[in-house]
Amino acid sequence: MAAEKAQVVVIGGGATGTGILRDLALRGISAILVEQGDLAHGTSSRFHGLLHSGARYAVKDKEAARECLEENMILRRIAPNCVENTGGLFVQLPEDNAEYADQWLAACAESGIPTEELDPRELRRNTPVLHHRVTRAFIVPDCAVDGFRVLWSNVNSARRYGARLYTYHSLTGIQQSNGKVTGVELTNQLTGERKYIECEMIINSTGAWGGAVAALAGIELNIIKDKGTLVAYNHRLTNQVVNRLRPPGDGDIFVPHGTITIFGTTSVTVNDAACTKPGHGEVLDLIKIGQEMIPDLENYRLIRAFAGVRPLYQAGNTAGGRSVTRNFALVDHQERDGLQGFISIVGGKFTTFRLMAEKTVDLAAKRLDVTAPCRTAEESLTSPVSEQWLERGKRVFGIPGAKKAADRLGDSFQRVVEEAEKNPDQRKIFCECEVVSLAEIVHVAGDGDSFTLGDIRRKTRMGMGTCQGTFCSYRTLGALSGYSQFAGNHREYLTKFLQKRWKGIRPVLWGQQLREAQLSSAIYCSLFGMERML
Ligand SMILES: Cc1cc2nc3c(=O)[nH]c(=O)nc-3n(C[C@H](O)[C@H](O)[C@H](O)COP(=O)(O)OP(=O)(O)OC[C@H]3O[C@@H](n4cnc5c(N)ncnc54)[C@H](O)[C@@H]3O)c2cc1C
Repeated sequence: MAAEKAQVVVIGGGATGTGILRDLALRGISAILVEQGDLAHGTSSRFHGLLHSGARYAVKDKEAARECLEENMILRRIAPNCVENTGGLFVQLPEDNAEYADQWLAACAESGIPTEELDPRELRRNTPVLHHRVTRAFIVPDCAVDGFRVLWSNVNSARRYGARLYTYHSLTGIQQSNGKVTGVELTNQLTGERKYIECEMIINSTGAWGGAVAALAGIELNIIKDKGTLVAYNHRLTNQVVNRLRPPGDGDIFVPHGTITIFGTTSVTVNDAACTKPGHGEVLDLIKIGQEMIPDLENYRLIRAFAGVRPLYQAGNTAGGRSVTRNFALVDHQERDGLQGFISIVGGKFTTFRLMAEKTVDLAAKRLDVTAPCRTAEESLTSPVSEQWLERGKRVFGIPGAKKAADRLGDSFQRVVEEAEKNPDQRKIFCECEVVSLAEIVHVAGDGDSFTLGDIRRKTRMGMGTCQGTFCSYRTLGALSGYSQFAGNHREYLTKFLQKRWKGIRPVLWGQQLREAQLSSAIYCSLFGMERML
């Protein structure tokens, strides 16, 4: 059988890889993206979800701060349904260095980041959960961003220009001939089948896995893996992102997302990119630090903890590589290691993924003799849902259901509403916590990219709310038994799904969440005959 061909194979379906795929496709370069799990399997779903204004970096790195601000503005414009324009606050407490606030203000001004000082009395009126001891507070243009939505929007946009995607395929071999990349060997993680793709170039955008992927080409790439733990509160504690006004450290950011809040984070060096188990001790430490800003923190219900691994590029290894900024590095392995057709992009932030992709594809295009310019900052990622379709959606899913579905589905909202109009049974809400209808679940199950209940969860948010899948997972599976990927052993599918949910619930098992867990355990262990939940 003839091998599939593409000019470029991009490895890694995180923010960086999906951004690169889109940029390549928009410049007319044929490209395939390969991801070992579902999209966002790595750090791009294990983060705060803060679209930085740059203010956090202004003192330490003005270049990074300016890049964040510029990319923040671009993403708001091209992907409004992925960004919630919450605004952000920087707050200082009496024990923080008072001089740092002035230094920070001057640095923000130098980086062009707008700031506005808020009277602490006004702050107490607007954000009563914050400590009354706050001495100074400033408003900045931070936002909340939905990682899953950005990634799928990148891929859907790239597909409109002919790009291809293989999820659940791992890169297991790199073929080379005479110092040139000639192809990749992939292994399907669900079936074990092997696949070969002929290509002229491989782009390694595998974040914390970058060193392991480079090793397949016989190249050394040193990446420090830095684990950060986060917790999700079952409440929107504040309407704005809240940052502590002091040099960046542990437990200093709260980000509201819809009805919940993500709080974190920590910083611990680990050996393995897949080391994403949050610890109970880390959670307790975080709460203790967070109480300095929100004294009542321990009384709010936590729904889960999770962790991500930051890929930090070890600068000592840059010999021959081209350091683009102090935050991300573009490594041209042709120049550095003499291997033609191999590029790595390492480090950075979610906020700057588009810029990282632009710099990477500029280099790839130069090597491939393509002159088309980057268009990712101008062309919209998704088209907005029209008022007319939103109104029709409200009639079938209710007001909150339609609004949430429109944000989640973007371009596909119209098709889901049409299905629900034709088939009233599909209007049923299957996940009450996140207001997800059967029509949306069925649409996602049939999109060709959903192989597990977890894939459906990530796209619809089914199972991500207060009940963490207790009520919606078995309903969803029951409704999808007609789909070949869900036709096998239902107990096994449910067990896998719930075990992943439990990984995040275990470190926060007390109070209301413990009661919820006992209910869940009773349902699944007694009614569905599962042996154990933990
Ligand atoms: C705790 C924490 C909080 C953060 N908060 C923020 C924030 O609020 N704002 C912000 O801007 N940034 C934040 N960051 C940074 C940001 O999340 C990351 O920089 C960004 O998500 C990295 O994206 P990426 O695409 O480079 O890597 P990833 O998202 O990790 O993607 C790499 C992908 O490569 C895949 N892969 C690996 N090996 C293979 C293989 N052999 N074959 C196929 N696929 C493979 C992986 O499965 C993975 O999906 C945070 C990071 C952490 C850890």
